[in-house]
Amino acid sequence: MKGEILSIGTELLMGELTDTNSSYIASQVPALGITIQRMSQVGDHLKDLTEAFAQALQRSEIVFSTGGLGPTQDDLTREAISAALGEEMKVDPVLLEDLKGWFRYRGAKMPPRNEKQATLIPSAASIPNNQGTAPGWWVEKDGKMIIAMPGPPGEMTNIWTSQVAPKLKGRVKGQVIITRNIKTTDLAEADVAERVAKYCETENPYLGIYAKHDGIHLRIIGRGSTEEEARELIRPVEEGIIAVMGHHVWGYDDDTPEGAVATALTEKGLTLATMESCTGGLLASNITDVPGSSKYFRGGIVTYSNQAKVASGVPAEIIEVHGAISQETAEAMANAARQRLDADIGIGITGVAGPSELEGKAVGTVFACISVDQRVKNLALRLPPRRAVVKHRSVTTALVELCRLLNEL
Ligand code: ATP
Repeated sequence: MKGEILSIGTELLMGELTDTNSSYIASQVPALGITIQRMSQVGDHLKDLTEAFAQALQRSEIVFSTGGLGPTQDDLTREAISAALGEEMKVDPVLLEDLKGWFRYRGAKMPPRNEKQATLIPSAASIPNNQGTAPGWWVEKDGKMIIAMPGPPGEMTNIWTSQVAPKLKGRVKGQVIITRNIKTTDLAEADVAERVAKYCETENPYLGIYAKHDGIHLRIIGRGSTEEEARELIRPVEEGIIAVMGHHVWGYDDDTPEGAVATALTEKGLTLATMESCTGGLLASNITDVPGSSKYFRGGIVTYSNQAKVASGVPAEIIEVHGAISQETAEAMANAARQRLDADIGIGITGVAGPSELEGKAVGTVFACISVDQRVKNLALRLPPRRAVVKHRSVTTALVELCRLLNEL
């Protein structure tokens, strides 16, 4: 089935907003048998929007839209769909009551302008939105579909996973495309390519190798007439890759380094503490992005000055002899974090985020250490000399390496 995505909002055309909704939808539909043939961004103008819907419906069997479902004058998605289909919008009493209930629950009275969020056209059914005031529209007419969803990404993905994807599954006739992403670390792209060479010879399943900030990813793509058929094609390749990559595999699909660390620490019943300087707290922030991290994360200390490092347990002589930007200091930081915060594992990170060099060390020089009991794992990194990249990559690398270490324990 051919599909299109319309992202709606003038903010998108002004470069003020990055269109993450389209990428999300585009990544989800292949598994449902839908091929996206066009993605467009349209401003909040009724004429442009109406034309966009009308033209998309001529080209494609299913149109996904996000945004423009709010209560204000420039939220025009419903009006545009109505105009494109030549149908009249009417307030639906059940939806109106729901909406009033939503406001009552928050101790407020519904402003009159929100009433338009309770409208429908004859071809539309409402898609409930339990995270906001804007319900979506599920429109079916003359063999074509429009699925209009709200703009805020959290609301859109919630509606997608809970309602849209389950309803579309099995309804669409078309080739199903399934992907499986295997995430690896500690090997160069060429090494990985050599290990998995024998799986690169087929078109279906297809194996792609991609260098990402958290290691080399191996993406297997399988095409079949059903989801099961596509998964069966992928299965032996996945098993073969896992066998040859062994402990270099740290995660799959949407796994994040902090999520994989959470799983491994919880499985092993171990606790973690951190001490970081050049990453300014990003390591602790990423670790605590995972709900429930208090079960294994004892805490993190940001020691941005030498004084703070010493006050937090790093021996002053180590800094004097080796410098703050050194493997020895990173190791002392990891040990001090572990001891001060009474954790099983400590991570220390010190480096030069830039823009200027420090202690004669170039921007992008980072030393990290993971300390577990008598064992330490030292990491000396040379990262691209851009501040944000240095911070981000140092944290990702430390977490991925911790994952690997935990898998080996
Ligand atoms: P609301 O009731 O919140 O107004 P809406 O459906 O009218 O919902 P918009 O007003 O178009 O949505 O967008 C609300 C916010 O959602 C935007 O300010 C932006 O933060 C986010 N958003 C909208 N479209 C996108 C998009 N394509 N990609 C990422 N974020 C988006």
